[in-house]
Amino acid sequence: MKCTQNGTFTEGKLQPYGPVELSPSSGVLNYGQGLFEGLKAYRKEDGSILLFRPEENALRMKSGAERMCMPSPTVEQFVDAVKLTVLANKHWVPPVGKGSLYIRPLLIGSGPILGLAPAPEYTFLIFVSPVGNYFKEGLAPINLIVETDFHRATPGGTGGVKTIGNYASVLKAQAIAKAKGYSDVLYLDSVHKKYVEEVSSCNIFIVKGNVISTPELLGTILPGITRKSIIQVARNQGYQVDERLVSVDDLLDADEVFCTGTAVVLSPVGSITYHGKRVEYGHRGVGVVSQKLYCALTDLQKGITEDNMGWTMELN
Ligand code: PMP
Repeated sequence: MKCTQNGTFTEGKLQPYGPVELSPSSGVLNYGQGLFEGLKAYRKEDGSILLFRPEENALRMKSGAERMCMPSPTVEQFVDAVKLTVLANKHWVPPVGKGSLYIRPLLIGSGPILGLAPAPEYTFLIFVSPVGNYFKEGLAPINLIVETDFHRATPGGTGGVKTIGNYASVLKAQAIAKAKGYSDVLYLDSVHKKYVEEVSSCNIFIVKGNVISTPELLGTILPGITRKSIIQVARNQGYQVDERLVSVDDLLDADEVFCTGTAVVLSPVGSITYHGKRVEYGHRGVGVVSQKLYCALTDLQKGITEDNMGWTMELN
């Protein structure tokens, strides 16, 4: 789908997966004017396909586009394009229990621009790929390191939107952590350097007693759709869920810690290392609360339990 300066995207078309032609002076290649989304399609027992809250991805892309001076497709255009792409690739949606189809919508400044300014033309495209577990650990607990030398986002920056540059900025910290054997990096706020923000590609929750807490959205954290869903699912199950400042001390003192995201779904955290000190959770097993919320969410996403929230969209 293409759009020029008038802000309206024209009808798109399906085309085989392959290289995308771009001007060397396109906004995305030169100034990082790009956003992406990520969502998944699951196969149900009866063979039909379920999408999970695709309108939320459309709305997040819309608000990100506003921040990045880009026009965006309407919610309807976004969801219709996702449906069309998934249906055209339905043979790639794995059977029940064998993973899911990851859907990657991209919005890029594709028009040429030399001086620093928003591009004159935009392209919205979607590609898909079957996927299994994001972390090699699967549902087994992951090991995180709290990063104190690098930050993912700063107040007033673009940490709260899903722009491509945010991911380039975490590559180095992530590579260092992985080389040391950690699964991923947990970032702190860049002002006080003591409040937990998020992991490179997922949000974080802590459990203490019957209370679940997660860092509040102050512009530097991505408003995860899984985060929002887990908050609701946990409240429905009677847990108190607080969105608040979560300090490193709160984190290290928690009974359970878990991460949420489309790719990671809900990943329990087995250990956190901070300034060389390693804290382990739940004897490195999956915590009771993490396990309960994981099952509640995934049963809903896969159509195993009835969807009373109206979050799933069935495609035939
Ligand atoms: N934070 C970051 C930085 C992410 O890239 C993601 C993945 N989109 C998330 C959190 C989780 O968001 P969601 O639950 O919408 O996938």
